[in-house]
Amino acid sequence: MVWTAALFFIVVPLVNSEDYCYDEPQCDPYAWGDMYPSCHPLLEELHSPINLDHQMTRNQSLEYLHLEGFDEIQTGHWTLKNNGHSVVMEVGGGMSVSGGGLPDVYHTIQLHFHWGGPASNGSEHTVDGRRYPMEMHIVNMKSIHPNLTAALDDPTGLAVLGFFIDVVYADNVHFGLISQKLSSVAYKGQTTKIKPFPLMNLLPKHNMSQYYRYYGSLTTPPCSQVVVWTLYEVPVYISWSQLAQFTSQIFSTEEDAEQVTPLQRNFRHIHSTFGRKVSVSKDAKLLAGAAGLPLSSALSLLQIILLGSFIISGL
Ligand SMILES: [Zn+2]
Repeated sequence: MVWTAALFFIVVPLVNSEDYCYDEPQCDPYAWGDMYPSCHPLLEELHSPINLDHQMTRNQSLEYLHLEGFDEIQTGHWTLKNNGHSVVMEVGGGMSVSGGGLPDVYHTIQLHFHWGGPASNGSEHTVDGRRYPMEMHIVNMKSIHPNLTAALDDPTGLAVLGFFIDVVYADNVHFGLISQKLSSVAYKGQTTKIKPFPLMNLLPKHNMSQYYRYYGSLTTPPCSQVVVWTLYEVPVYISWSQLAQFTSQIFSTEEDAEQVTPLQRNFRHIHSTFGRKVSVSKDAKLLAGAAGLPLSSALSLLQIILLGSFIISGL
């Protein structure tokens, strides 16, 4: 989760002269609690990210979320911004998420990314201890709230859709609409316009009923514990070169800084669930083991994989 400097002024007015970072001991994620007390991972608290493992509970009522406006081309323009902590795309109005066990309708505000370095992965959540190359967060605010300050006072004020990003040989043409613009926001504070496109094009559209659900926090200061997390099981695929545009061409410093610093490994460390319930949607498959996927379903999944490799090898 990433917020603009403006938000910190509203939420934490006393510390607006300080900033957080990922790569220096005095301001890295382990030190955030010194500046932002709510970032201290105290016992029984609901911090994010977490590792997703087999200790999850199947919830048959968790079906597709309703993604309003995600198939449409929104009017106006979107804004891509380097805020020194991530690359954020502010998407204006017109889109919302609901259903899938969410307690309300949430308006879509922005999406942003977390990544690693040239030779290391950088998703925030991990799956069975595995970190994906990147993670994308689509941030949505409960529609009853007039602003983020109000939403951060509500235990379910935000709903974030998280997507793992993995790497294949081919470029992702839809993702390219963002990655091609990164050179315009290489330095902190830079912004550029993006022509709206159907946001669904970025998402694993055939697997949107497969996800995990838990209650957690922002993964950036002030680490507010107000987030209903939805982590999708099937990743978004991009190319190595599209990944490299994030890991080696974005800087956490301003253009005229004496020393430029690449923005890398902008993820928070994993937190304990402290026994929190993590739910598996009705159709989720990968981590189904202890969550109760019947053996016959597991077998048919294996058959599909074998059939798939047979078809591929037969071509
Ligand atoms: Zn995030």
